[in-house]
Parts: sequence; structure tokens; C-alpha cells
Amino acid sequence: MMAVHATPGPSMHESHRPWQLVAKSFDSYPFIAPGNAWIMDEAEKEPARRNFIEQIIEEHNQSGRFDGRVHTRFPPEPNGYLHIGHAKAFCLDFGLAEKYGGKCNLRFDDTNPCKEDTEYVDYIQEGIHWLGFDWEDRMFFASDYFEQLYEWAEKLIADGKAYVCDLNAEQMREYRGTLTEPGKASPYRDRSPAENMDLFRRMKAGEFADGARTLRAKIDMASPNVNMRDPVMYRILRAHHHRTGDTSCTYPTSDSTSGQSDSIERITHSVCTLEFENHRPLYDWYIQQLGIFAPQQIEFARLNLTYTVMSKRKLLQLVSDKLVSGWDDPRMPTLCGLRRRGYTPESIRNFCDTIGVAQFNSTIDLQDVENSLRDDLNLRAQRVMAVLRPLKVVITNYPEGQTEELDAANNPADESAGSRRVPFSQTLYIEQDDFMEDPPKKFFRLGPGREVRLRYAYYITCTDVIKDEDGKIVELRCTYDPESRGGSTPDGRKVKATLHWVSAAHALDAEVRLYDHLFDRENPDMVDEGRVWTDNLNPRSLERLAGCKLEPSLANAVPGDRFQFERLGYFCVDLDSTPKAPIFNRTVTLRDTWGKVQKKR
Ligand code: ATP
Ligand code: MG
Repeated sequence: MMAVHATPGPSMHESHRPWQLVAKSFDSYPFIAPGNAWIMDEAEKEPARRNFIEQIIEEHNQSGRFDGRVHTRFPPEPNGYLHIGHAKAFCLDFGLAEKYGGKCNLRFDDTNPCKEDTEYVDYIQEGIHWLGFDWEDRMFFASDYFEQLYEWAEKLIADGKAYVCDLNAEQMREYRGTLTEPGKASPYRDRSPAENMDLFRRMKAGEFADGARTLRAKIDMASPNVNMRDPVMYRILRAHHHRTGDTSCTYPTSDSTSGQSDSIERITHSVCTLEFENHRPLYDWYIQQLGIFAPQQIEFARLNLTYTVMSKRKLLQLVSDKLVSGWDDPRMPTLCGLRRRGYTPESIRNFCDTIGVAQFNSTIDLQDVENSLRDDLNLRAQRVMAVLRPLKVVITNYPEGQTEELDAANNPADESAGSRRVPFSQTLYIEQDDFMEDPPKKFFRLGPGREVRLRYAYYITCTDVIKDEDGKIVELRCTYDPESRGGSTPDGRKVKATLHWVSAAHALDAEVRLYDHLFDRENPDMVDEGRVWTDNLNPRSLERLAGCKLEPSLANAVPGDRFQFERLGYFCVDLDSTPKAPIFNRTVTLRDTWGKVQKKR
């Protein structure tokens, strides 16, 4: 069952809930979290597998509002890397188009030249493609529409619907009022259309200093919706734009661009997150005044995950303050970070699908993303043996210099994955914590005088423990039972543990990086007094182990390859790995162990 922590969000807009929810019990639909508004078919009492957005689309298709057309878009701002929250959004945008035989555009919302860059434009495309979606020939930029937007701004000026205002930013804030008090009209509000037109053209020609004047929509300073209190449409900004260069010193605001851009592209369903609900009346206002095609905006709740942050500003700070190694640090919730960590695109898409869409903000357990990944890797990851913290074992009755090859299954869950040969010899490595000199009752692994099974190999019994001068255990001496080859004996004797191992002479040396949650608080934004959010970073989020021993079949692994290291988790070859210096990232443990670790601390 998905864990969802609900927090009340903005109320739903009336027009978005014309249906009835007939869900009887969530228990019969184990993957449906409360607030995940699957629409149930009254007649069948079965989930019709339609979320509230699909319901709206189907109503439009029935009423013929968009002539049966479904055309969505994903509108990222090229000012950062995509994260799993964005994936939630674009899986929905592209997914809806796919489901209804429609189209989905990629449109960069590049209206803020100060923070934007072509580097981001490239990585955003890569991220969407990685998850398997494609915009075909429909990649656009809001800046493609700057001329059209400028013409429309002049039309609004001519119609007396927009004016040039000389208030500076601070004054404008004062005049705007608050949530409880209406705003005051700007002293420049009643300028004539002719004067406004002249000033606006001179703004564009570069006659005025940055911030000296703005163009504002003339709507309603008393509106209960602050967005409708004469919002700024254009500001003067001498900044280099990543596409239009230095050709312009006036830029439209994102709010006076989004709705019109959707309209230009004839987007039918403009799906966005809840914080835009209060912007919808403004977008609709522009469209009405201009008399242009009217898309339907539909809002859903952002994805939030425990133990991580999703704000681009914070992610940027982690990178620029070098608190992580980069945007693709395997601990980051960015798509490139998840990819480097070893996440499969399928597991992310599956996760986004499974959580559904909600109309109130909630936080999903990071564990749910990890479980989706485990499910996927369990099916596809080849099993291998690797020892992370090696302890040497010498088998005294095994012929010195002899090597034999044992048969090991590549994936016990999938016979078609076949098997491979693993070398066995007199000297092996096992995991340090698979041995205890003085084992407590519940420890069933190796100890003095005990017998265990070596996976795919033999039964061994520990006869001696060798220590160094400091009393540290450095080697075990064991005997093996030649009759137990393959893991069972003719007398059917049972052992309580099966250990993984690697033959010392054949082992590959590697570095292995273990990751834990980036933050040690479920909600990293909850900051104790006198501290800052970065104090919530988990100091144990990265552990680098050198001198790990891997079975030789891993010699041919290349960056991106994924494996299950038996008993240890899923691992993938890091981007920086080379055949001479292999590096593996632990993608995820076999089971969730966070709860246990927390208790121990
Ligand atoms: P900002 O606008 O503050 O730079 P942003 O995260 O909203 O940050 P955008 O590039 O504007 O970034 O986002 C593109 C689209 O992705 C938007 O439609 C936005 O609603 C959606 N989106 C962003 N974050 C999430 C999230 N956590 N969950 C779901 N959708 C998201
Ligand atoms: Mg945004």
C-alpha cells in the first residue's frame, strides 16, 4: 500500500468536479492511495481506470468542445535539470496524449533570460527521451512567440486594457495590497492609449533604464485574486537571452506568456500543478480580451518525496555549494542523478503511473519509488557475487593451485537468463560480517566449528581463526566437504546459512559506493531554530568502499550495466568506471532497511 501523507491543499475548482466518486473501499484496490481519484464506474462497481483529468478530457470529447482533439504540452523553464517531480508532470502530459491518440508538445518557457541556459535545454530533452517520450517535430520556445506577444500587447494598449506604469518594484508591492486588503490604483493607470503606446515602444527601443517602467494589464486592483491586480506584462531587462541574444531589452513575464503560448499551439488541455490554479483567471482574461483559441487548464498536485528536496533553487544550491558532486550525483532526485544511480526508466514511469494524480498536495514515501525500482530490477538484473568487506578464507583440504568452475544461475526468477561459470579455488573471500567468533543465539552464519554452504559451491566448516597483533581477525581456516559440490550432500545434512564468496585469485578489485538518503529528515524543509535546511543533510549519505572483490564475469561490465550482488542489493557501473578502476554504485538495497538503521542510531 502506498503511504501518502495528506496535507490540505487549495480547494478544487467547481468546474473540475462534475463527477461522482463511488470508491467503496481502498482496500480492494491496493495501489490506489486516498486522494488518488480513480473514477469508478457506477454500473460495474469496478475502477474504470480513469483519473479526474481523463474524466474531464472524456467529457470534452463527448461534448465536442475540442472536436475530439487532445493536445497537451510540457512547459519546462530551462533554468535547471529535470527531477522526478517533472517526470510526474511529463509522464502525465505525454501519457494523456498517447492514451487519447493526441499530441504533446515540448515548450520551453524561456521568459527569464537571467537564469536560463542552453545547457539546460539539452539536458531537459535528454531526460524526456530517457523516459521514452518524444515530441516529434513539436519542440517550441516561448521566445518563438515574442513578436506575436508584442503585437498582442499593443492591441491591449490600443483597447485601453494595458498601461505603462512608472512605479518601481517596491512601490508596486505597496500598491498591490494584501490577501485581506484591496490594492490601490497606480497613479499611471489612466494614461491614454496613445501615451501608453508611445512609452511602450520607447521601452522596447531601449530608451529607459532597467526596471524604470513596466507594462501592466488593466484588470482590477480590488480583485480578491492578487494575480488579477494589474499584473506586470513586460519588464525592462538588459540581459542576454540564450536564444534571442541581446536583441531585446524588454521581456514578457511568464504569466503573460503561458496562456497565449498554449493558445498559439492550440493546446486543448493545459495540465499544470496546483499553484497555477490562481493564475488561471488571468490566463483566461488575456485569451478573452484577445479573442483567441481557449485551452482548458487543469491543475493537479505536485509530487513531493520524503527525505529529499525538489525545489530547483535548493537543488542548484546543493550543486553550487558542492554539497553533492553535481546535478547527476547519484543521491540527487534529478533524472540524471537517478540514472547514474542505476534507476531504470521503466521503474520511474511505473512509479508515476501507480501514484496517480491527486488534487491535494501530499508527500509520497521515497520507499515507494525504491520499491518500484526493486520490482523492475528483480526481473531484469543479472545475479553475481561480490564481497564488499572481504575476509580471507583458506580451505586447508582443497588442493593448492586447483581451480574448478561451478555453475551459477543468472536469475533464479527467470530461467531464460541462463547460467555462468564461477571459479572456485583454495583461497576465497567472504563478507566480514558473515563471521562471528562468538556468535549470539540468532546468528546462523559462520563461526568457529560451524558449517555453512557457499553459494553454488560446497559446505565449509571453520576450523581456525587467525588474528593479527592487534587481535583483528585477518583470516579463517576452513575445511570443505568434497561431496557437497553444488550445495547439497548425499546424507541430506542441513546447514542454516548460505554465504556468497569470490575466489581470491580470480577476483576483480573495485570501488563500491553505498548511498543512503540525502537528508536524514523525512521533511528536509523542517528546520530547527538557528539552523538552515542544509543542516538536515545526512552525513552518512555516501560511503565509499575500496578493495571490494567482484567475481571475474564483471570484467566486461560497462557504465550503466546493472546487477544484483547476491544478498547485498542492486548495483550499477558508474559513469566514471574504467576497466582498470571499476566503480559500482549501489542503486538500492534488496529490502528497505532505513527503519532499522534509524533505530540503531
Ligand atoms: P520554477 O518554476 O520554480 O523554476 P518548477 O519546478 O515549477 O520550478 P518548471 O520548469 O516550471 O519548474 O516545471 C515544468 C513543469 O513541471 C511545470 O508544469 C510544473 O508544474 C511541473 N512540475 C514541477 N515540479 C513538479 C513536481 N514536484 N511535481 C509535479 N509536477 C511538477
Ligand atoms: Mg514553474
